[in-house]
Amino acid sequence: MIHPTPRLRFAPSPTGPLHLGGARTAMYNWALARSLGGTFVLRIEDTDRARSTDESLAIILEGLAWLGIDWDEGPDYDTGARKNGGGDHGPYFQMQRLDRYREAAERLLASGHAYRCYCSAERIEAVREQQKAEKSAFLGYDGHCRDLSDAQRAAFEAEGVVPNIRFRMPADEAVVVHDLIRGQVEVNTRQLDDWVMVRPDGVPLYNFACVIDDVDMKITHVVRGEEHFLNGIKQRLVFQALGHECPEYAHIPLILNQKGGKLSKRDPGVMSVLEYRDQGYPEEAVFNYIALLGWGFSGERDVFTRDEMVQAFKVENVGKAGAKFDLEKLLWMCGDYLRRMTPEQCLERARPWLEKSLPDGAFDVHAAWLRNAVACYQERVALFGEFAERIGWLLTDPTPDEAAQKNLQKHADAKTWLRGYADVLEALPLPASYPAARGAADTEVLLPIQKDAVEAQSAHATPQAVERATRAFAEQHGIKFGHFVHPVRAALTGTDKGPGLFDVVFLLGKQACVRRLRAAAGG
Ligand code: GLU
Repeated sequence: MIHPTPRLRFAPSPTGPLHLGGARTAMYNWALARSLGGTFVLRIEDTDRARSTDESLAIILEGLAWLGIDWDEGPDYDTGARKNGGGDHGPYFQMQRLDRYREAAERLLASGHAYRCYCSAERIEAVREQQKAEKSAFLGYDGHCRDLSDAQRAAFEAEGVVPNIRFRMPADEAVVVHDLIRGQVEVNTRQLDDWVMVRPDGVPLYNFACVIDDVDMKITHVVRGEEHFLNGIKQRLVFQALGHECPEYAHIPLILNQKGGKLSKRDPGVMSVLEYRDQGYPEEAVFNYIALLGWGFSGERDVFTRDEMVQAFKVENVGKAGAKFDLEKLLWMCGDYLRRMTPEQCLERARPWLEKSLPDGAFDVHAAWLRNAVACYQERVALFGEFAERIGWLLTDPTPDEAAQKNLQKHADAKTWLRGYADVLEALPLPASYPAARGAADTEVLLPIQKDAVEAQSAHATPQAVERATRAFAEQHGIKFGHFVHPVRAALTGTDKGPGLFDVVFLLGKQACVRRLRAAAGG
């Protein structure tokens, strides 16, 4: 059906952080709204008062904003670049809409679509136990109060029993629904009980509140997890009872783990959206990866921008089978986004983590040098948060690890080579010194003091100049280059990994190289 004014919504309960599943639901609703030129509404389902918190709400809003999922109506949230929220169809918090639910419940009571149930919690529990014991095919409320007489009701009221309000399900009706993803499905109401719409305290339950909100907010399409499929049947009947058209439903399959089970927080790499942010996952990559959990951009490409997704998104193209979460693919995608950036972009985005690991103000003073360090690692890392850790060996003289120790001892002449090489570097026009800055924790951090000094000399002191001098030295002394690099790298980096040797020398600068080589050679 073509709707002249498509309106979609994401309706989280603020009972915990935004996880991958919620983010995907939000994203698909958002993408459909944007692709149809419609409105995207954020509604907060906060009727679970014991578990709903302002903190969770703040985390959800922040997570959506981080992923670039903006909303037109709902809670206010100003990102600086965009003011989300507002709208004429509110309030957008369910606890502020209790009078709307009361009014609708009265209407359904009057029309006979709902009834008051005076059963105690103990009775309901006893019925459940009995059904279990009898292995009954039907589980749920037994309809005890469905047809109470006025006198019976009056007696309960006189005793002061405050009732639940239940929806009267048709006893035996085949409901045929067309789901945008699952196609035509028929469900018989026999398997569904008369469910509670409103509790004695006047707070509505999800299936009822959701319909009243979808009506008031003029929602035309609902995309949500398949765990809500049967809720969709219940909700459809409420729409009908109130005389409203039901939105189009699309129930998306679960996200699975590598073993094909339901994805859980315990599966490797599964985190809340803001945890990905805090570990330095690029948001474009996380967005891109989440979009692919059930939907495909094109056969040939799975890296795309938000705009490209909006252009291409069709909810009908979401798969029927559950999508598997694959941490390796997510990390590959993060690395892919990183490699496409310029070193300057990378440096800026890695800034928060680098600043944390450097003395105050050092980031700005040494930005040119840091840019070079970042450039050497851009091909090797996936997360912005990784740079700070990776460049640790550049900032303080390292203690050789086990692999480095081995490489230092492998060749009998290694110490002589290191001494000789130190003399070669001393004579090279490398950035002369990266003197120590005093770190916050009073550790020595080796950094170029003035970026101008580094730039002025960099014409001579390129990694290429270092390479020429290094190869010439090895050749002169008849040392195989492959043998030579191992102890040198070990002395300079304390490991057997890292960027190319000439980049290492270039980044470290003369003083640190000479000092480390001589130290490893035993003075
Ligand atoms: N609050 C519900 C949830 O988080 C919303 C379901 C719906 O979209 O109708 O699962």
